[in-house]
Amino acid sequence: MAYIISDECVSCGACEAECPVGAISEGDGKYQIDADACVECGACAGVCPVGAPSAE
Ligand code: SF4
Ligand code: SF4
Repeated sequence: MAYIISDECVSCGACEAECPVGAISEGDGKYQIDADACVECGACAGVCPVGAPSAE
């Protein structure tokens, strides 16, 4: 299962730079993860200041 970003996201952009496969992009009101590209490395969850990304 891919990681997902919850509504807690404050659109800081920190996770986008950390994703090794470029799966994260800015969406409508929050950042989003391309489920087909995510390799479940957890890097986004590690840098997020509000704990928005999680493995579903
Ligand atoms: Fe990218 Fe890893 Fe987060 Fe998936 S878990 S979106 S591959 S940083
Ligand atoms: Fe949103 Fe967290 Fe990513 Fe910042 S690091 S854009 S708060 S998910």
